[in-house]
Amino acid sequence: MEEIHEECGVLGFYGVEQSSRLAYLALQALQHRGQQGCGMAVVDPEGQIRLHKKAGLVKDVFAEKELAGLPGNLCIGHVRYPTTNVGGRENLQPFVITRKGGSFAVAHNGNIINSHEVQSRLEKLGHLFHSTSDSELFAHLIGRELPGKGMARAIASAANKLDGAFSAVVLTADALYACRDRNGFRPLSIGRFPEGGFMVASETCAFEAVRAEFVRDMEPGEIVSIGPDGVKSLRYADSCQHRMCSMEYIYFARPDSVIEGCGVHTFRKTTGKLLFREHPADADIVISVPESSVSAAIGYAEASGLPLEMGLLKNMYVARTFIQPNQSLRDIGVKMKLSPVRSIVRGKRVVVIDDSIVRGTTSRQIVRMLRDAGATEVHVRIASPKYAWPCYYGIDTGTREQLIGSRLSEQEICEYLGADSLHYLSEQALYQASGRTELCTACFSGQYPTDLYGYDNNHQYETD
Ligand code: AMP
Ligand code: SF4
Repeated sequence: MEEIHEECGVLGFYGVEQSSRLAYLALQALQHRGQQGCGMAVVDPEGQIRLHKKAGLVKDVFAEKELAGLPGNLCIGHVRYPTTNVGGRENLQPFVITRKGGSFAVAHNGNIINSHEVQSRLEKLGHLFHSTSDSELFAHLIGRELPGKGMARAIASAANKLDGAFSAVVLTADALYACRDRNGFRPLSIGRFPEGGFMVASETCAFEAVRAEFVRDMEPGEIVSIGPDGVKSLRYADSCQHRMCSMEYIYFARPDSVIEGCGVHTFRKTTGKLLFREHPADADIVISVPESSVSAAIGYAEASGLPLEMGLLKNMYVARTFIQPNQSLRDIGVKMKLSPVRSIVRGKRVVVIDDSIVRGTTSRQIVRMLRDAGATEVHVRIASPKYAWPCYYGIDTGTREQLIGSRLSEQEICEYLGADSLHYLSEQALYQASGRTELCTACFSGQYPTDLYGYDNNHQYETD
């Protein structure tokens, strides 16, 4: 497995005119969560579910023709991460299940950790699967539970059989359902429109894109239904151990999103301040690695009193480095993506703030680049703890061996990067910056909040 995957984003609209057009805008606001492909399922005025999904960015997959072909007030949508080695179009979402009693569509974000067990049980019962997506599994489970139950209770029974991370949306002919796993790994929030109608989305930045008002975050283990009878909530799991993914705050989410009461930019800025308190550096300027560490660098500069400078520029038009197929191409990729601003760094002692080190490719190149551009000292500060354990909850960073933090000590990594000093943020600071007492920090600590169902012995898996 060569590339690092990102996760996905979901959304849904209820009672909103031309919902696919708003979904088009809102999916673009979630595009950072996945660029491989996207899709939408809409209930048309005749009550039929229409689907369009394709590989590519939202702006390329949905043009006027596609949007005109998706009329209706009720829809769900999905963006999927980039990948080259797992699945093709068949794994794009949403999934539509056509049944006698009425069709429904499902899309989700996260990784269901016991999916293999559940799927093989269903296969023995005669279910046929057309993809390797957890959403299809979820849809099969719901379909099995539906007879004699309402949709909300069918979703509850399905969700109760699953473990791991899933923030899911389900669409029927007349209602929208949203469901969050019992640990609440992935965010999911509810919004509303002043003129009527509701929306759910992975991140609140999607509400901003279509001028919806934030109502509340969904709770772990909760199902919300939005339909002709209004908005209803159902708890399907009582003993919830809330474990929001700390990497959402550190890297994945957009800085203008608010996750469970904590603004992502504010969180990152605070980690930057705490990073300075924990690891000050004797330097002349602070620089960020655009875009992901800008907020943390602002915090570090503010706390240190050092000037924040634009020491690195990002070329927006270069493909992302982690999808390059091998290490030497990844190295070139970093060089093309980032350029040092010589006039800023020449003759300076530089503190460079990054959000995380995964393989070490980016940081190593950056240190070299800054030295080549004339920096006299390069001090690396990372606004998260040492990333040393693979994630099994929807963020695929490869195997333990591929993570530099699992192979080398802080001092060894510093030497590998060629930096004058290297320090990471403490885990405690993550709790302090988020103002919360429960987070998933498994990729730093190795303390996984759920059973791993053998995943730690088999790294070849897929996330949605
Ligand atoms: P690396 O070169 O592998 O050390 O990549 C580190 C950079 O990738 C960090 O500075 C982050 O901005 C970014 N990053 C962190 N986690 C991920 C991930 N799961 N997928 C893609 N990029 C990531
Ligand atoms: Fe997030 Fe890390 Fe937990 Fe995965 S292991 S859910 S990336 S905190």
